[in-house]
Amino acid sequence: MTFDLSADLEERHRQHRYRQPQIMESPCGRHAVVNGQRYLNFCSNDYLGLANDPEVIAAFQNAAGEWGVGSGASHLVCGHQRPHQDLEEALAAHTGRERALLFSTGYMANLGVMTALLGKADAVFEDRLNHASLLDGGLLSGARFRRFAHNDADALNRLLQRSEARRKLVVVDGVFSMDGDEAPLAALADVCEHNGACLMVDDAHGLGVLDEKGRGSLFAQGVNERTQILMGTLGKGLGTGGAFVAGSAELIETLIQFARTYIYTTAMPAAVAAATQVSLAKARRESHRREKLATLIARFRDGARQLGLTLMGSTTPIQPILVGSDEQALALSQALREQGLLVTAIRPPTVPEGQARLRVTLSAAHDTADVDALLAALSQYQETD
Ligand SMILES: *Cc1c(COP(=O)(O)O)cnc(C)c1O
Repeated sequence: MTFDLSADLEERHRQHRYRQPQIMESPCGRHAVVNGQRYLNFCSNDYLGLANDPEVIAAFQNAAGEWGVGSGASHLVCGHQRPHQDLEEALAAHTGRERALLFSTGYMANLGVMTALLGKADAVFEDRLNHASLLDGGLLSGARFRRFAHNDADALNRLLQRSEARRKLVVVDGVFSMDGDEAPLAALADVCEHNGACLMVDDAHGLGVLDEKGRGSLFAQGVNERTQILMGTLGKGLGTGGAFVAGSAELIETLIQFARTYIYTTAMPAAVAAATQVSLAKARRESHRREKLATLIARFRDGARQLGLTLMGSTTPIQPILVGSDEQALALSQALREQGLLVTAIRPPTVPEGQARLRVTLSAAHDTADVDALLAALSQYQETD
C-alpha cells in the first residue's frame, strides 16, 4: 500500500507554498553561484562572515588531520573527544556560565532541554513567534503548552499568574528569526521572577552579533544572571554548525542524564568543534566585524525607508521587508534574482498568514556597495510596481 501524496503536493503548489532547495555551487559568502549565475547573497545567517574565514578553515583542516572526520560514537559512549571538551569550556567562559554542553544542532538542543526538564505536571510559555524547534520541544515535552502575544510581558504575566504547574518554563528567541526584533528580556525576567518561573533564551541570532564581545542578547540586555538557560547555535554568527546549552552545573548534569537528543546521537565531528573554538575567539575579539555590520544595517534601513518600503522593528542583521501576499513576495524575490540578487521570500507557515516577506540578511562579508546594489534594485521594483 502506498500513500496518495500527490494531492498534498498539488495543494502546496496551488498555495504558492511549494518549497525546493536550490543547488548552491559556491561556498557561503558574499556571492552565491546558482545554475552557473553569480548573485549577491542576502540569505545566509553567516552574519560575521566566519563560515569561510581562512583561520577557521585551517583549524578545521588541522583538526581533521589529527582527529579524522567522524567522532565515531555518541558523547556518552566514546565520541566525546578533547576538542569537544575544550569547546564546551570555551563556550561556558564566553557566556559567563558554569558549564556548557554541545548538541549536534540547535533544533536538537531545544528538543533536548525541554523534554529533559518538563513533563505532564509542568507548563511551558512561549512567544507566538518562537522558532519552530521551541514550539516542537514544548509540544513533545508533554507539558501544558501556552503561547503569549509577541513580546508581551503583561500577557505572559497573566498566564503565569493563573498557572499552578509544578515547573513553569518561559522560552523565547533572543532575536526573532523571521522578524529580527529582540525579546524584552529584562521585562520577561521580572515577570519570571515574580511568578517563580524559569527563563530560557534561544539566542541563535544574537550570539556573536550582539554585545561588544559578541556574547549575545543576554549581555546586550544585561540579563545574563537572570536567565537560567541559554541555547546558542554555532551555525549562524559563528559560521560552523551545531549548538550548545549553557547554564548551571546542575542544569548541564541534568541534560547529560535526561536529554535524549544529547544521549542518543553521534557527537559532532571533533574538527567542527576545533574550528568553532577558533571562530568563537575571532567573534569575541574582532569587533570590527560587528562594527561593519552595524554600518551596513544602518545604511540599508535608511535607504529602504527612503524608498517607502515596510521594514520591521529590527536593528539586527535580519532586515525583513514586509510584502503581504505569498504571490507578491515570490514575485519580488524573482525580480531581484533577475537583477543578480538572492533574497529569500518567507511565506506561511513560517510566518503568519498575510505576512509573507523578503528576509534580507546582512553580513560583515558584504560591502556598502552591495547594500547600495540591493537598494537600487528595490527602487526599480517600486517604480515598475
Ligand atoms: C536556526 C535556529 C535554530 C536551529 O538551529 P540549527 O542548529 O540550525 O538546528 C533554533 N532556534 C532558532 C531561533 C534558530 O534561528
